[in-house]
Amino acid sequence: MITVLSGGTGTPKLLQGIKELVDEEDLNIIVNTLENDYFSGVYVSADIDTVLYTMTDMINDELWYGVKGDTFVTNERLAEIGSPELLRIGAIDRATKIQKTLLMENHTLSEAVKIQAENMGIKANVLPMSNENSDIKIVTDIGELEFHDFLIKHQSEPEVLDVVFSEVAPAPGIIDAIKNSDMVIIGPSNPITSILPILSLEGVKDALKETYVVAVSPIIGNDSVSGPASKFMKSLGIPVSSFGVASFYSEFLDEFVIDDKDMELKEEIEKIGCEVKVTNTIMKNLDDKKHLSELILNNI
Ligand code: GDP
Repeated sequence: MITVLSGGTGTPKLLQGIKELVDEEDLNIIVNTLENDYFSGVYVSADIDTVLYTMTDMINDELWYGVKGDTFVTNERLAEIGSPELLRIGAIDRATKIQKTLLMENHTLSEAVKIQAENMGIKANVLPMSNENSDIKIVTDIGELEFHDFLIKHQSEPEVLDVVFSEVAPAPGIIDAIKNSDMVIIGPSNPITSILPILSLEGVKDALKETYVVAVSPIIGNDSVSGPASKFMKSLGIPVSSFGVASFYSEFLDEFVIDDKDMELKEEIEKIGCEVKVTNTIMKNLDDKKHLSELILNNI
């Protein structure tokens, strides 16, 4: 069994490679739920839906959000009648979100996602990290912002002073999934807003210490490949580099994959106590994704 810890962009890219090489039945995907909230009357779990769409090849893999080729007539009409949506939700994507919202009237999020995954023909075990509501605030130089306000309304532009989020309990099955795995893969996701929420769940770090953990750096040189990860890391005093990410995961990390461009950091990272592999980690096409996945899966 292999367990992947995922956010909604970098790790789903890697999942496109992993799913070519591993039987889906042997795959658990623990997904960040920290940014989940209600928008336009529906429950939005963006990272979970991105993983569902990735596993069914429906993902809009230009935006890493929503469904490829989706239409936006409801979104546009809402704007026309005075209720513009903060999140641009497409018609097919909205159906997923409406169904989840309805299911959650008498199911937990985990149960709702299990039903949706089964209905979509997904054999992998897609596990929301928690069934509890959470709250995340980005503290910036223009005040405290909701996560999506920071990301979308303010285009991640304000200076970030801190990132604070509520504590939630792990969903049933999370800890066992990690403990019963031959390998846990921490994809190249945002270490602060995608991976830290999973690491902060009670029991997760201890379970990871008992398991072989491989992580891929989302940082190349001194910046993230995309998104505001570097701003968030800086605000928490973590060096914005592959070394910084490896140090952040050092308690439980067995192997770390860095990009060719960071070759000179290999020895420094090895001193933290993990094996370091160096390769191209920019995933532009399926070959890149399969190559990176093969390198990671090599050790099992
Ligand atoms: P979010 O939920 O949309 O924030 O997505 P994630 O947390 O899953 O992913 C965001 C992180 O993925 C960013 O920190 C990027 O640097 C990283 N990332 C995106 N694409 C790539 C890639 O092709 N290679 C690597 N190494 N990192 C990537």
